[in-house]
Amino acid sequence: MKFAETYNEYERRYMAGSRNIKVTGNINKNTFIRRNLKTFLKRIYYNLLISPLWKIKNLIHYSGEYDLFNSIALETTTYCNLRCKFCPNSIYERGLLKNRKLMDIKLFKKIIKELSYLNYNGSILLHFYGEPLTDKRLPELVKYIKTKIPEAKIKINTNGFLLTPKLYKQLLNKGVDSFFITQYGDIMPENIKMLLSSLPKEHKIIYRQLNNDTGLSNRGGEIKVSKCVDYEKPVCTYPTASLCIDYDGNIVLCCNDYHSSIKLGNVRNEKLLDIWRKPHYQKLRKEISKGIYTLPICQKCVGLASSKKDEGVKV
Ligand code: SF4
Ligand code: SF4
Repeated sequence: MKFAETYNEYERRYMAGSRNIKVTGNINKNTFIRRNLKTFLKRIYYNLLISPLWKIKNLIHYSGEYDLFNSIALETTTYCNLRCKFCPNSIYERGLLKNRKLMDIKLFKKIIKELSYLNYNGSILLHFYGEPLTDKRLPELVKYIKTKIPEAKIKINTNGFLLTPKLYKQLLNKGVDSFFITQYGDIMPENIKMLLSSLPKEHKIIYRQLNNDTGLSNRGGEIKVSKCVDYEKPVCTYPTASLCIDYDGNIVLCCNDYHSSIKLGNVRNEKLLDIWRKPHYQKLRKEISKGIYTLPICQKCVGLASSKKDEGVKV
């Protein structure tokens, strides 16, 4: 294919469907070449290095089971105390206190037990679109995980507003391995300032601040963002690398599936591994990791189709 044709195709795929999402400004010949080279190198890096290494690691650890996620997100609560404008919680009412749903403790324990039978040693993130620190059960949930699966790495992704030095220590003692705090906006919350200043040199907090230059996800086409990080993703590894379970036990496509629109199964009445091994789920993972996006949510996510914003949703 000639450069002009390829370029037009590129423009159609990555620009035409994104009228409300500025990707990174004007695409010129150099940008086109640079991006394609980046994509090519990323594919090589992922397919020839990361993916085989990951499979070998799984083969050894899980006695022959090479196709397995290395991260799992559990939505213990749907409630979030913020309404960030780049998050679907700012549009929909799902994250409001009045609509709060907590993951049933029996369901939570069933999931953790199944992971322990697997001898799971990947990451466990206790969030989806809720703020984990609003869930008063959190210390006990963490303790339960650590007791059942000591090798798993428990990670808390949080906006940090509710994290006090006392809670930080409590969660650490129960078994949290790391905290990932994201600051939204220019001003660091007072409690975070206090917390950070009270910490010893060696601590378990990773802190990041989002600003206008930060690439953001359009959350499966739900959000208008000025720099969309997913558009630059040549290979989406979310479904291959991670498992996302909503408060109700649904295994959903990925962390961008805010509405749990693609349900692959429900852990309430099915075994986690049986769901993971379903042929259509396997096929979907394979396709997505090769850059074949058949689902509308993926097409919006990577810029192949118009985002919800184009259909009139106000941000
Ligand atoms: S980005 Fe995080 S903190 Fe902000 S509304 Fe969404 S879930 Fe809450
Ligand atoms: S491309 Fe699809 S699977 Fe990948 S992050 Fe986007 S919505 Fe999720």
